[in-house]
Amino acid sequence: MNKIIVVKRDGTEMPYDSNKIFHAVMKAIKEVDGDISRGYLAVNIAKSVDSYMEEHTVECITVEEIQDLVENLLIYPGDYPEIARAYIRYRYKRELARNNYKELMDTVGEKLSAANVQNQNANVDEYSFGGRMGEMNSAVARKYALEYLVSPMARKNHEENMIYIHDLDNYAVGSHNCLTIPFDDLLAKGFNTRQTDVRPAQSVSTAFQLVAVIFQLQSLQQFGGVSASHIDWTMVPYVRKSFAKHYRDGLRFVETLLDSEIPNEMPCSASYSEVSIHDEVVWRYNEAWKYALEMTEREVYQAVEAMYHNLNTLQSRSGNQLPFTSVNYGTCTLPEGRMVTKALLDVSIKGIGALHKTSVFPCGIFQCMKGVNREPSDPNYDLYKLALRSTAQRLYPNYANVDWSGNAGYDRNDPRTYFSTMGCRTANGWDINGLGQLKDGRGNICPVTIIMPTLAMQAKEEWLAEGQGEKVEDIFMGILNEKIHEAKDMLIERFNWICSQSPASAKFMYENGVMAGYVPEEGIRSALKHGTIVIGQLGLAETLQILISCDHTEERGMELAKRIEQLFKDRCAEFKKEYSLNFGVYYTPAENLCHTAMKKFRAKYGVIPNVSENDYFTNSIHVPVWKEMSVFDKIDIESQLTGYSSAGCITYVELDSTVKNNIDALEIIVNYAMDKDIPYFAINVPNDTCLHCGYTDEFNDCCPECGSEDIQQLRRVTGYLTGNYKTAFNKGKQQETEMRVKHG
Ligand SMILES: [Zn+2]
Repeated sequence: MNKIIVVKRDGTEMPYDSNKIFHAVMKAIKEVDGDISRGYLAVNIAKSVDSYMEEHTVECITVEEIQDLVENLLIYPGDYPEIARAYIRYRYKRELARNNYKELMDTVGEKLSAANVQNQNANVDEYSFGGRMGEMNSAVARKYALEYLVSPMARKNHEENMIYIHDLDNYAVGSHNCLTIPFDDLLAKGFNTRQTDVRPAQSVSTAFQLVAVIFQLQSLQQFGGVSASHIDWTMVPYVRKSFAKHYRDGLRFVETLLDSEIPNEMPCSASYSEVSIHDEVVWRYNEAWKYALEMTEREVYQAVEAMYHNLNTLQSRSGNQLPFTSVNYGTCTLPEGRMVTKALLDVSIKGIGALHKTSVFPCGIFQCMKGVNREPSDPNYDLYKLALRSTAQRLYPNYANVDWSGNAGYDRNDPRTYFSTMGCRTANGWDINGLGQLKDGRGNICPVTIIMPTLAMQAKEEWLAEGQGEKVEDIFMGILNEKIHEAKDMLIERFNWICSQSPASAKFMYENGVMAGYVPEEGIRSALKHGTIVIGQLGLAETLQILISCDHTEERGMELAKRIEQLFKDRCAEFKKEYSLNFGVYYTPAENLCHTAMKKFRAKYGVIPNVSENDYFTNSIHVPVWKEMSVFDKIDIESQLTGYSSAGCITYVELDSTVKNNIDALEIIVNYAMDKDIPYFAINVPNDTCLHCGYTDEFNDCCPECGSEDIQQLRRVTGYLTGNYKTAFNKGKQQETEMRVKHG
């Protein structure tokens, strides 16, 4: 036989070898019945291909053509149908594997070269080296989780746009979502890292430095945000330590002053009465006191400023991300705590860097509390006013409602139990496993989100198919109930997977008690069981439109909305008891999902008026952003639904930048929200900063001061802020931002 060249799929060439055909057919025979005595068949087929080559004087042939020949030789005599099928199956599987591999490698290439940047996470710089590595890792890890780890039920729900598995890229490695850090303990006791041990803080500046370090360290043990639940209280002992040090310095300073300036007029001379000695001693202590106070205030301010800088510069996570950090404050009425809150707000108002830009991290959260800061006669009312001033200019702080009815059972004497949130909105509710309303050391373990509009479409299809007998909303409630149960199963599946990880995966967290409740003999489940596992939701407004052609801004819509939310609440309460795990209702941020879920939805159902005309689904139970209404109407509507959520929600309103000059109006709005029992409230004010001169206001593309067009347009994505929304948001969120109407 002449030398025949075989061309492989990748274009490379090799000499023809009929042994390879023999082995391929043998594999098919073995798979069917293992009867290798039928090896003659494989020999015959290889020989037949040889003769074909000779008869047709083939010089060059592709692998596919050879496989076609073998397939025909197996099929057409009709004697060996199962072997033919096995061969075809084998060939198909190989091809699938090759395609799969190619698809994966195409994605790897795309991510590594930042060829198609999607801005899935507003905090990731997808063009950076770190961002490209991170995105590539994430693409591989997602695929692995979906194809090798999750159950077929979970995968189906995820792929069919019904129940979304969040942070799939962190699924396989088994890390959890977010955590409120027990800073009181860590600062008082010190902690260990892989390389060294860190001693307890001895001053407020060290304490704030350690806060930034601990935020960094913990954010590498998990994939979501980190928070401090009551930083003003936490800092009290360290402000005291700093004050004591400055006071001692002050006394020494006064002594030297006395020694050098009035050496000859010191006491002991007969002309001084005892009162004047007393006066002089008081004077000395007063001077030292004043000195210490001034120095302590200065130190607190500088410590806070340094923390802000650290949290906006130390990119530690894959993807050149800053850790998602949040600090809650505002309820400590001790002078030390008040000093901390004031500094946090002063730094926020001042802005960071040379241009005094609005700081993106940490997310500040002011804790409103009756009797503490709500009324002019309250001890921290002045700080509330200052917070409002900061919000008007810098969007932060947001407002957490300590008096929220959903946080019942908290201890007024223990700020660790006050209502606080992670910036995006996640909240720790009542722990069924013994920690009650304690927030510190607890967080969200994992979320899923039910994409309700897909279920509504399914309900509508069934309704039409069944001759419109049963009401469409009843059919929907049935489907939703089923999906809530599946969501629960998906969460348990992931929770168990996370619990199966070794404590060595997160040494800092487990060895230092950063996550509360860890008992080594019992495994990490002993700690993870205090966290929440939550069922989120997307697109209530669109769901109602599909089902009854109106949303919850109308009474009919609100009625059905409450029925839907009650179902979520009841089921989660039942699951919580049944499984002794903290199931909760979650009004998902859906930063990326609002857009990707809509893309999938539209590909399947097309454009439906009031449902899929935009590039995004409406966030959780929110009123659609384009609805014209007053601030108070929006709060009235959303406050009827926020009570159903135990694991986190946010309500925000859009104001224009003139609010800067009307802090009293802002106060009325925030008070109104708090009195309506809204747990977590935020205000969106346009924040455009000229990157040339630093001017900040609402002006979009061109600076009115200097004419520069280099503008950072800062907007809120979820609960956090991000950089320029035009480059850091995905398409859906960009459109949503542009469609937001101001609430008058
Ligand atoms: Zn300018």
